[in-house]
Parts: sequence; structure tokens; C-alpha cells
Amino acid sequence: MKILVIEDERKLADYLKKGLENHSYSVDCVYDGEAGEKRAAMGEYDAIILDLMLPVKDGIEVTKDLRIRGVNIPILMLTARGELEDKILGLDSGADDYLVKPFEFQELLARIRALLRRPIAKVGEELKAQDLTVYPNKYLIEQNGKKLDLTLKEYAVLEYLVRHKGEALNRERIFDHCWDWTVDSFSNVVDVYIKRLRDKLNDKNEKYIKTVRGVGYQFQE
Ligand code: CA
Repeated sequence: MKILVIEDERKLADYLKKGLENHSYSVDCVYDGEAGEKRAAMGEYDAIILDLMLPVKDGIEVTKDLRIRGVNIPILMLTARGELEDKILGLDSGADDYLVKPFEFQELLARIRALLRRPIAKVGEELKAQDLTVYPNKYLIEQNGKKLDLTLKEYAVLEYLVRHKGEALNRERIFDHCWDWTVDSFSNVVDVYIKRLRDKLNDKNEKYIKTVRGVGYQFQE
């Protein structure tokens, strides 16, 4: 298992590298956000340990940009006490887990193990949920073997929901992953697309896409 550590405190980065190597992981360290994102996008890592406050590009930006690029490697975000409230609360950057500094190494190890146990669908690999099959390389989704007639944006939203089936996703998160940054307000655009998708899926009883009150939507497993 290969882990990328993106952390500008060299001492901590070295400490993590040594500790993880003692547990049979192979570890690369990068010390700023931009360089880290480049390395991460090369896609050969099983997990990323990412500091929140980084030079050049912070951990939230790195996470968002990686997710937009379709990089689904699990990310454990490190934050100093206080940063969490300021920077993340209410925001959903797309990281899989957070750990507040200072932490025990054993705690970090446990979190990493948990992340690695999670099945992560690789980019480009077919995804299945109920009677749907998603072919990411072709931007194609079939329902019970029949091709669904979707626009690219509808495809993107449905693919994202299927990729995260069983998870309650808030509107902001869906929006962040499917629309670009030039759209400045997500207003009800997510709801509009969910309605269109339900129509196309003939999803009258929320068999596929469930409304999670106070949160957003969840694709049913
Ligand atoms: Ca830092």
C-alpha cells in the first residue's frame, strides 16, 4: 500500500513517513499543496494524508480539485485545533476523514486502515447500483440493460450519486462536484436535476434517489 503525505511541517512529515514505513506502507512526502496535488493525480497512491494549512494551495483546494479531476483516492485531512471550525465546518471539501493535531500515531494508523478497507471505485471502472450500470469511459448509464437518454450534466449528477450510493449527500456537495466554479449560486439547480433524473429513471417512489430531509439526496443501494 502506498501513501502520499502532503504536509509542510517537515518534522511531522518525516515522523509520519517513518511510522508508516514501520507498518509496511510505502510513503512519499510532498511539502506544498500544488506539488502534492500533482503527485496525487498521478494516481498510484492508495491513500493521501493531507494537511489543511499548506503553502501555495491549501488542503481544501487540493481535495476539491482532485475530486473534480475524478481522483477518488481516500483522503485523511489533518487540521490544527481551531482550523476545523473556521475552515471546514459546514463545508464539505470531499475529504473522507479528519484528524485534529496533535494526534496519537496509533489513531492515525487506525484511520488509515479504515480508509483502506473502504471499497473505492476506480475512475473509469464500471459502477453498478440496483439495475443501473454506469460506464464512466463512455458517459453512458444503462437501466436494466437499456441506455438512458441523459445530457452530460444529468449523467454527471447520476454518476456522482451512484459512485456514492448509500451516502446522504448534501446539495452543496453534489453541486461542487458537478458544476464548475463560474456558476456562482447553486440555488435550486441540484433539485431541478434530481427531478429530471427521477423522471428519466421513472423513479416515482424514490426507489433510486431518496430525499434525505435536512441534508439532500441519497442513492439507494
Ligand atoms: Ca501546515
